[in-house]
Amino acid sequence: MGSSVRKGKVVRQTGGHPPAATASRRQQERNGNNTRRSAVTEDYYHTPQKTAETCCSESRIIYGSEKNSNATARDLEVTIQTLIDNNNVMIFSRSTCKRCSKVKDLFKSMNIPYCSLELDQTEDGQRLEVVLLELAMERSVPVVYARQTKVGGYERTVKVHREIGFLKLLEVNGQVEEPSYDYDLIVIGGGSGGLAASKEAAKLGKKVLVLDFVVPTPLGTRWGLGGTCVNVGCIPKKLMHQTALLGQAIKDAPKFGWQLDEKVNHSWDTMTEAVQNYIGSLNWGYRVSLRENNVTYENAYGEFVGPHKIKATNNKGVEKFYTAERFLIATGERPRYLGIPGDKEYCITSDDLFSLAYCPGKTLVVGASYVALECAGFLAGLGLDVTVMVRSILLRGFDQDMANQIGQHMEEHGVKFIRRYVPTKVEQIKEGYPGLLKVTAHSAENSEVIEGEYNTVLLAIGRDACTRKIGLEEVGVKINEKTGKIPVNDGEQTNVPYIYAIGDVLEGKMELTPVAIHAGRLLVRRLYGGSRIKCDYVNVPTTVFTPLEYGACGYSEEKAIEKFGEDNIEVYHSYFWPLEWTVPSRDNNKCYAKVICHIRDKDRIVGFHVLGPNAGEITQGFAAAIKCGITKEQLDSTIGIHPVCAEIFTTLSVTKRSGGDILQSGC
Ligand code: FAD
Ligand code: NAP
Repeated sequence: MGSSVRKGKVVRQTGGHPPAATASRRQQERNGNNTRRSAVTEDYYHTPQKTAETCCSESRIIYGSEKNSNATARDLEVTIQTLIDNNNVMIFSRSTCKRCSKVKDLFKSMNIPYCSLELDQTEDGQRLEVVLLELAMERSVPVVYARQTKVGGYERTVKVHREIGFLKLLEVNGQVEEPSYDYDLIVIGGGSGGLAASKEAAKLGKKVLVLDFVVPTPLGTRWGLGGTCVNVGCIPKKLMHQTALLGQAIKDAPKFGWQLDEKVNHSWDTMTEAVQNYIGSLNWGYRVSLRENNVTYENAYGEFVGPHKIKATNNKGVEKFYTAERFLIATGERPRYLGIPGDKEYCITSDDLFSLAYCPGKTLVVGASYVALECAGFLAGLGLDVTVMVRSILLRGFDQDMANQIGQHMEEHGVKFIRRYVPTKVEQIKEGYPGLLKVTAHSAENSEVIEGEYNTVLLAIGRDACTRKIGLEEVGVKINEKTGKIPVNDGEQTNVPYIYAIGDVLEGKMELTPVAIHAGRLLVRRLYGGSRIKCDYVNVPTTVFTPLEYGACGYSEEKAIEKFGEDNIEVYHSYFWPLEWTVPSRDNNKCYAKVICHIRDKDRIVGFHVLGPNAGEITQGFAAAIKCGITKEQLDSTIGIHPVCAEIFTTLSVTKRSGGDILQSGC
């Protein structure tokens, strides 16, 4: 499928044979793919409230707030005329006027894009309206112009529609003009979702631009192309988790006959250098793969400045402007700060940790979810003194039975927990790398205050969506004001039809790399490849890489009870002892398997939970079975692989309700 971006005017034929793009659009409409309609159906322009600049054109008509108060009648005339000149259909309107809405609906129903200026929401709108009505010799809005010619007010517009038809009116040589854009698709954010979507779109013949820019952390940490997962998320985290697992393997090794003559030490510098070198190779690989796929990449910060128009600012402050038929917001999230004295000056976040130039030493981790527990887990695995400060519960949203077992295991392996406290102040006692910090914390339950000294304080208290500084208000994209997240429909479309969003910025979706990638690819295939397949956000498997790994898919026990009722679910569970752990006498009855079945639905498995080594590898396979609707009977009839941890799931016979013995003594 070809690109709809042309150098000159982009046209849509109204008679004769439709061009290929139009034909395929029609095919898609026949297929019922509403989200994949032409630009004409989607491009209902909005005018920004404070300024009419950029509306559907390259021209910049500035009458911003400061300038406007001094705008002369002539300035206002020029503003109006420029809007008329730059737009195929220009509607002067008021947001509260019913007739104005009807006129706009009329153009929407014909799939004709227009630019509207809402005079009641525009600075100097009242004065503009007076000048407009004088110029147009009309008594009230709406006032409609088509191809730079006045159509008139409401009645006249409806009459022209009935008697001549706007398609005819807008025709030039048998063709209706469509707006021309620099790109088919501009993707803001070159992380997991953005890169996947942009490459897919380019493969489908689209002209694509990706903007990716990393705002440095308060301590100045920055990184390359690829987003959170590659640079400051999954990849370095898993490699450091692996480092910790190797430490455990070294402890086990003498039991298997290895004679480790010298004391084994760990070097933070060697680890971070190796991890960062690998990340560097991935950054490079992403650049190459964008080039190979003909995706244009700019290391620049993207910000909407008007309908279909974006400003890209690079790290030298150079600004460029681009237009596109569609936009994809994939800007991800960044770590949140506590907002207490000393947090930004002295604390680090996961954005700093993985490339920290020195070993963090005695560390306080604040937070109790994925990031906090994973980081605390591997830091402790490297032999560091680690404390986790928990505000309420561990791993909110996860099965609490599993979460508590994770906490217990970490505690038994040296991680300290301070429960129900939150920091209120961080002070520097001694400079250095690491230095020494004093943390004051208040009880979440009473007025008690505690203090502690740490070399490093790692904040892992959640992440904020990068949506508040990307000009969404200029284009009218709604966000959840409280969370900053973007609500979308089931096709990842925002309330502004030509703007889509995927990944961590989405409201109510799991914040995971494969989710962002999958949603991005499917979206692009729907937009440009004729597909109708939507992203299924149900039963997404996940793994928490704590020292005792936790894999989960489907409902937690609490959620299953809430959804189906306690009487309607059956929970089968068991402890198990990995064979590899028997010889070194490690942790019997710590690894745990649990499935939750929906009794009334043929014992369908609605929740899968495992604590143990390689939990992610185990969960991935079972997730496919759960997607296919596996029942307990089918699980029981599956023959296990011996001797592996996952085989426990084929022999689960004790229900939680029965209170039967689930302790294991051997394999
Ligand atoms: P991101 O990957 O965050 O990419 C967004 C990109 O957009 C970034 O490069 C950002 O700098 C850029 N950007 C932002 N604003 C602009 C702008 N205005 N202009 C230009 N560029 C902009 N997920 C897993 O599945 N497994 C894991 O094991 C896992 N571990 C994690 C560990 C940690 C410590 C963290 C923090 C996250 C982890 N995640 C994990 C989550 C995973 O990293 C995210 O879900 C995933 O990266 C989201 O992808 P995204 O495309 O939405 O955003
Ligand atoms: P999160 O899931 O939002 O958890 C935030 C944690 O910080 C909670 O424990 C919360 O406690 C606590 N907290 C919030 N505000 C606090 C405050 N003011 N003081 C003290 N504690 C506070 O955030 P996250 O761990 O950063 O994870 C973000 C997302 O990244 C996750 O949803 C996940 O999808 C993704 N991720 C995935 C992986 C993986 O796949 N392995 C790993 C890491 C991250 P309360 O419970 O009291 O609110």
